[in-house]
Amino acid sequence: MLVVMEAGARPEEIEAVVRHIERIGLRAHTIPGAQRTAIGITGNRGAVDPAVIENFSGVKEVIPVSHSYKLVSREAKPDDSIINVGGVDVGGNGIIVVGGPCAVESYDQTRTIAERIKRGGGQLFRGGAYKPRTSPYSFQGLEEKGLEILARVREEFDLPIVTEAIDHESLALVDQYADCIQIGARNMQNFSLLKAAGRARKPVLLKRGMSATLDELLLSAEYIMSEGNYNVMLCERGVRTFSDHTRNTVDLSIVPAVKRISHLPILVDPSHGTGKRNKVVPMSRASIAVGADGVLVEVHHKPEEALSDGPQALLPDTFDQLVREVDAIARVLGRALQPALAAS
Ligand code: PEP
Ligand code: MN
Repeated sequence: MLVVMEAGARPEEIEAVVRHIERIGLRAHTIPGAQRTAIGITGNRGAVDPAVIENFSGVKEVIPVSHSYKLVSREAKPDDSIINVGGVDVGGNGIIVVGGPCAVESYDQTRTIAERIKRGGGQLFRGGAYKPRTSPYSFQGLEEKGLEILARVREEFDLPIVTEAIDHESLALVDQYADCIQIGARNMQNFSLLKAAGRARKPVLLKRGMSATLDELLLSAEYIMSEGNYNVMLCERGVRTFSDHTRNTVDLSIVPAVKRISHLPILVDPSHGTGKRNKVVPMSRASIAVGADGVLVEVHHKPEEALSDGPQALLPDTFDQLVREVDAIARVLGRALQPALAAS
């Protein structure tokens, strides 16, 4: 159920509706929009009587929401959400490039790559301190030490940090150190982790599971939002198909599909999506052409020595080229690369 307030509804009218919803044991989510404020009602305590809410002053209409996702939908918020990640806007008219290594391996490695991401025009820096690896014998990440390195590099280059949380323990630390919490493909349906991310303070980058449908992705975002964290960005990172010329198949049509029904920004990760360095730039260009709000790519200055995902890592010079080319494509569409934060 969604309560749409009149365009000129006063804050105390909105507050009265919120109080009523909470009094009957449900949760109210105030969603300010460009034209009007909506209030999403969630909870599983049975039906709400729309007639009662319709009588509140300032209420325009009460509409039943037809699908199981509510807060992520354009019915709840018709205009695109813009999420602030450490001072950088994601969504809206600008596009962004997130770059960095698959994993934080050392301070020197991280610093070297961050310097190139900043110089190349990237807005956000990525790097895993907790790595969800298929084999227990593969490098698992530097954990909290990795977060400390990321935080240090952020200060040096004014590059907000995106890094993955793999469980409740790492989530609490990532929330503390980073600017954005990544929930990886393998955890897209870890509902307990999603709820915890919904109670965290930082924005969340939610990656699509490797066999998740559009509805499942949106419902996972709904889990986060239903706990009160409305700063959610989606990320397409390739799904499993019979095609074996790439690691995964980048499902680009999910971008316009998401845009049609959701106000949330969506990025594309062609690094995990293809697994091959030579396909990352073309698929990045294509991602922006289909309307993605940015791309997330892996970069390493010595990919042959990388502790994970070396074959898909771009060299820094190619990252520079990628930034130039996605900006050019964005401009054709009346968009442009977001400015990076000025170095202090
Ligand atoms: C990553 O971004 O480092 C990662 C592990 O991605 P995914 O969850 O998409 O596999
Ligand atoms: Mn990786």
